[in-house]
Amino acid sequence: MIHLFRVWNRCAARIRRAGQIALLFDFDGTLSPIASRPDLPRLSSSNRKMLQALAQTNRVAVGVVSGRGLRDLRGRVQLRGIYYAGNHGLELEGPRVRFLHPGAAAARADLVRIARELRKRLKGVSGVLVEDKTLSLSLHLRRVSRARRAHVRGLFARTVKPYLKRGAIRVTRGKLVVEVRPAVNWDKGSAVKLIRRQIQRDWSSRNILLCYLGDDETDEAAFRALGVHDFAIFVGGRKRTSAAVYYLRDPGEVEDFLTRVRSLRKARAA
Ligand SMILES: [Mg+2]
Repeated sequence: MIHLFRVWNRCAARIRRAGQIALLFDFDGTLSPIASRPDLPRLSSSNRKMLQALAQTNRVAVGVVSGRGLRDLRGRVQLRGIYYAGNHGLELEGPRVRFLHPGAAAARADLVRIARELRKRLKGVSGVLVEDKTLSLSLHLRRVSRARRAHVRGLFARTVKPYLKRGAIRVTRGKLVVEVRPAVNWDKGSAVKLIRRQIQRDWSSRNILLCYLGDDETDEAAFRALGVHDFAIFVGGRKRTSAAVYYLRDPGEVEDFLTRVRSLRKARAA
């Protein structure tokens, strides 16, 4: 893995020259630092300004791809003219596109049941949070004391086991969060491909430079969906097991990246 700014001159030349460019971001831990509670993160006003400017730049598309529900994500980002992919892409909205995965709602009844069972079993465990995102569920462990996390994970595993066994759901893991999703073959990579197809149609061009920035396990699917000429950028320092070629250290460096790309494309549009 290479620190993106170490080879910036080379990258900048490609970003400047690209006919069209799509900048896709995960939200938590990428555009916004991870907070102790999932309801806290907001997009900083400087990032919002920069993303809005980029979204309005000629031949630049912007998108946010998150595990959060679509409504929740929109409320936090509050930008017009960009793509929003919620629930890992099961629901997606953007300029001239609106998508809901046909299998997304299939697991709804099971998710409701699992949420109820989890809340019952985890009653009394301090800091644990079961978040119902309609098309998926998150169990947040960040505020659970270190000593109790294994216990909570165990209870979770026991709760979802029968559902997993009959193929009703799938389980994914992130940073101190475990998620229950419908058993459909759809992830952030699928969302990235869908956005790319949409942009190709809009711009009548197949030649689009894609940048994807993300910090977690579920972002790996998005990295894998990129082509060899695209920019897969892991956020969080050097990581041994990532499909990303480049890395940035933290959301602060992501903000720096936005500023740099903006000035490259602004100069080009002028
Ligand atoms: Mg993240």
